Amino acid sequence: TTQSTITFNDGNSIPQVGLGVWQTPENVAPSAVSTALKAGYRHVDTAAIYENEDGVGEGIRQSGVARKDIFLTTKLWNEAQGFDSTLKAFDASLKRLGTDYVDLYLIHWPAPRRDLYVDTWKAFLRLKEEGRARSIGVSNFAKEHLDRIIGETGVTPVLNQIELHPTFQQKALREVHEKLGIKTQSWSPLGQGKLLTNAVISKVAAKHGRTPAQVIIRWHIDNGLIVIPKSVTPSRIEENLKVFDFKLDAEDLAEIAKLDSAGGRIGPDPVTATF
Ligand code: NAD
Repeated sequence: TTQSTITFNDGNSIPQVGLGVWQTPENVAPSAVSTALKAGYRHVDTAAIYENEDGVGEGIRQSGVARKDIFLTTKLWNEAQGFDSTLKAFDASLKRLGTDYVDLYLIHWPAPRRDLYVDTWKAFLRLKEEGRARSIGVSNFAKEHLDRIIGETGVTPVLNQIELHPTFQQKALREVHEKLGIKTQSWSPLGQGKLLTNAVISKVAAKHGRTPAQVIIRWHIDNGLIVIPKSVTPSRIEENLKVFDFKLDAEDLAEIAKLDSAGGRIGPDPVTATF
């Protein structure tokens, strides 16, 4: 398997496919993460709120893959927003992960009602200066939130991790990212598994002799997106990385483009979310 990477506006780069571990229990995380790393993954996406950072750290150590060869992301939970509390929460995440740096630290949600994401971003700048967060970014930010942190600090996040899948393609926000030099990372890339039985996806999969999951992951790659499918099943973890030996053609891409739907959002809307 040849992995592809995407280069950030700060010069660092990220493997385009990673393992997501939301809803992976703490005691399952070690085997899921070590299985993925042994299968060739070099990128893992966790968060403080997933309550499995200990298990992720354990999986990295069990895999035998060197820490320096792994791209590790974690995220700051909403309740820890604010300058001092961010620094404290970051230390706690590192401790649980059993590492002295992360490759990417993300503000998990803007949580605009708290109005603390600018102070939080200022703490992120300090963590980046200290080298303990090699890159810093955001998740679930709308244009107005991006404009505000960039306007107040002059520092542009390397990426924005947002809900994105064939039935919710986020074309407007992706254009905003393009203009600002922000990479797009797709969460719930398989629509939380709901898209695996979609008729169009199944047809394209049959045409290429691939699985629906592989077709969707390949669609993200062909759209220049960074993608973090979640599974705890070894055969599926392996299947989801075997996407670098085929390509979708123009006709496939055109058909999948038509699946985009304004009502396709599965998770909360970051602008109106009350947490
Ligand atoms: P997903 O779209 O990755 O779908 C996961 C589901 O699909 C699981 O139920 C799994 O069993 C199934 N699946 C995976 N591979 C399969 C395969 N090959 N064949 C059959 N079924 C398969 O959903 P997700 O977990 O919501 O999203 C992926 C990752 O994105 C998360 O684990 C997390 O890291 C991240 N995420 C971030 C946010 C955020 O707010 N930043 C929100 C949601 C998810």
